[in-house]
Amino acid sequence: MVYEDGDFALSETTIPQSMPSLPAQRKPRLLTVANQKGGVGKTTTAINLATALAAIGESVLLVDLDPQGNASTGLGLDPEARTLTSFDLMLGEVLAKDVIYQTLVPGLDLIPASMDLLGVEVELADNARRLYALKDALTAHFDTGEHYNYVFIDCPPSLNMLTLNAMVAAQSIFVPLQCEFFALEGLSQLVATIEQVQNTLNPKLDIQGILLTMHDPRNNLSTQVEEDVRGHFGDLVYKTLIPRNVRLSEAPSHGKPALLYDHKCAGSIAYMKLASELVRREMPILSAKSARQENQNNGTNQS
Ligand code: ATP
Ligand code: MG
Repeated sequence: MVYEDGDFALSETTIPQSMPSLPAQRKPRLLTVANQKGGVGKTTTAINLATALAAIGESVLLVDLDPQGNASTGLGLDPEARTLTSFDLMLGEVLAKDVIYQTLVPGLDLIPASMDLLGVEVELADNARRLYALKDALTAHFDTGEHYNYVFIDCPPSLNMLTLNAMVAAQSIFVPLQCEFFALEGLSQLVATIEQVQNTLNPKLDIQGILLTMHDPRNNLSTQVEEDVRGHFGDLVYKTLIPRNVRLSEAPSHGKPALLYDHKCAGSIAYMKLASELVRREMPILSAKSARQENQNNGTNQS
């Protein structure tokens, strides 16, 4: 479904020249953007990181799994236009291909959310596979040969059944962390939940990275939080910092990613840098996966 045409205003100069390349056709990486703390930059990151990856030629799907539907609004899809949503998908009533909308950004598709999601827990209460509802739907989609390089799932600010579904469906968790006083305390609760999911529902789940958001170098607290988080989590923390930047907060009210609203602002540039760092971080993981796949194929061919 296409809901609007638009021109894509990213200039070539925004894209880092030294971007590494990966095979175009490969199995999707499913990353869940989660932090139970509200307002830390999950949706802003999901929208702008997904956009930045699409801008460098990756095919990306963003799944809005938050009843607030902020990712859907921020990508310009009004509530009235969301005829089918992630709620219908989780109920198993539609195929993923029927809830995928094209966005203004070439290469970035969206499965939108609506308030209906608030009822999903009740609707699926008697379903033994309720925690696998999203995984089952997405797996069925990719089994048909449909292709994305990256799938991002934007979670609500809660460790509820929706977030658990997202953790079960994903391979890795991407954690935005606001540079503020209680940042680390919230993180330990999130890490405990991820460990519980690893021990029960999704043994391969890991943390892809931690991203410091709304960073202000003039603020001592920001610098202190950065030091603490890097001290605890080392290389897991992205080198790229997302600055506090008013253009990032203005963009959603125009229904556009910041990268389309103002591709030269500090926030847009930071998300482009982040995409580049993410791709570099993904390289060894994806190369190992391709090698495993090739070995399996060779084994199958020989038998
Ligand atoms: P929720 O938990 O409610 O889903 P969230 O974690 O998804 O929130 P966002 O919606 O991305 O957080 O951001 C919260 C608010 O902060 C929004 O108004 C957003 O526009 C603003 N914001 C996010 N990142 C930045 C930034 N780097 N600089 C300035 N404002 C920002
Ligand atoms: Mg959000």
